[in-house]
Amino acid sequence: ARAQIGVTGLAVMGRNLARNFARHGYTVAVHNRSYAKTESLIAEAGHEGDFVPSESMADFVASLERPRKVVIMVKAGGPTDAVIDELVPLLEEGDIVVDAGNAHFPDTIRRENALRAQGLHFVGTGVSGGEEGALNGPSIMPGGTRESYESLGPILEDISAKVDGVPCATYVGPDGAGHFVKMVHNGIEYADMQLIAEAYDLLRQGLGASAREIGEIFAQWNTGDLESFLIEITADVLQHVDAETGRAFVDIVLDQAEQKGTGRWTVQNGLDLGVPITGIAEATFARALSGSVPQREAGRAALPAHAQAWEVKDRDAFIEDVRLALYASKVVAYSQGFDQIAAASLENSWDIDRGAMARIWRGGCIIRARFLNRITEAYERDANLPLLLADPYFTDAVGNGLAAWRRIVAGAAQNGVPAPAFSSSLAYYDGVRAERLPAALVQAQRDFFGAHTYKRVDRDGTFHTQWSGDRTEVEA
Ligand code: NDP
Repeated sequence: ARAQIGVTGLAVMGRNLARNFARHGYTVAVHNRSYAKTESLIAEAGHEGDFVPSESMADFVASLERPRKVVIMVKAGGPTDAVIDELVPLLEEGDIVVDAGNAHFPDTIRRENALRAQGLHFVGTGVSGGEEGALNGPSIMPGGTRESYESLGPILEDISAKVDGVPCATYVGPDGAGHFVKMVHNGIEYADMQLIAEAYDLLRQGLGASAREIGEIFAQWNTGDLESFLIEITADVLQHVDAETGRAFVDIVLDQAEQKGTGRWTVQNGLDLGVPITGIAEATFARALSGSVPQREAGRAALPAHAQAWEVKDRDAFIEDVRLALYASKVVAYSQGFDQIAAASLENSWDIDRGAMARIWRGGCIIRARFLNRITEAYERDANLPLLLADPYFTDAVGNGLAAWRRIVAGAAQNGVPAPAFSSSLAYYDGVRAERLPAALVQAQRDFFGAHTYKRVDRDGTFHTQWSGDRTEVEA
């Protein structure tokens, strides 16, 4: 037994992760259900480092130094359980099983429980950055026991992306915490993409600009506060021309967005926790609306706009307004996502350090961005910050763009351009800062028809008004 780490599941992700370990000098045991993938890895990348291939799971396990560290990188769901079931009887106390696939966090909690009962460590870890990240440095979000991180952590930090020399991997928290944080990462990714798409649409419809011109605007934005992987690839995509038709590539792509389901998980969990992650929810529903084909056909045929063609007087001022509105909406989406992490952390006693999460998202992953430094700094100033938006840096940054944000959302509404994430983010901003909300009326209505009771602003206690009787108030 001489391999320091093993990878089972050698499709694109597992194969690249194994190569990444090997390139960092680790002896890597490799295994796949069908041996062909193992053979092709050795044939094509065997020269990159020290691989120990095995055809059977038993040989694979036997080739690992103890405590064994086995990374599972297979299809999430049933296949992961199948691999765990095959693996576990071959392991010994203290060994570490790492699920690096995109598991749903409740599955990770279940698996961690089961393996802990057998004396094994189970580490559910988020890995972001796709194929390219897996090979050259992903962002890694491992859960599980702190004890397992002591021996596993340094290896993960070694192969992760680095920003200013700092690894984009850190211990997240017990059992499902790592996969939970990966899920929220993906939800934020949905919101970020939708916001960028709305900014593009506003520029297109407001300015009548071409995809190419808008691509140039995004490239320009990528030199400032908005600098990020998603803005960078947007600039690139918008300037790409379809080889067959010579048209802008974005114009030949069918406008029906798909999803694999992590956005849906995030929204469902937001509902479970009662955390208003409106940015992520609007982004997920915007994809759903785009794919609602019969509804869109009926809507296109029947619904008038009663809006004029958008006339923008000052081109540069409008572009700057859209940029400021995008930045402000983005801060809201992240603020909400970090609220969701805080709520889940409290509910599950995970004790997640939100500043550290922003730090490991700075590189390797899809939402990597300059702006994440500001989030880390905000949580360094106050680890228990109740609202990211209320950190002085963000209060200023969003405050400076507030008038622009309102102009853009109002303009979108007046001109019939759908901007659900922009407008719901602004509504959230105004809601969370409101002195009083009409929730008071909702409580009164609930008490009227359902005797659901209410609290008063002027004294303690829970009350009910006898609405159908003489309307006296009784203490509930
Ligand atoms: P796939 O999700 O396509 O899974 C293919 C791998 O799973 C193959 O190695 C396959 O083995 C194995 N497999 C499937 N069913 C079983 C089973 N019942 N028993 C044993 N092995 C099985 O591979 P990817 O590399 O795309 O992704 C791996 C994991 O990483 C997934 O959980 C994915 O969600 C996650 N992920 C993917 C990212 C990406 O960009 N693709 C990014 C981040 C995470 P065989 O060759 O024998 O069929």
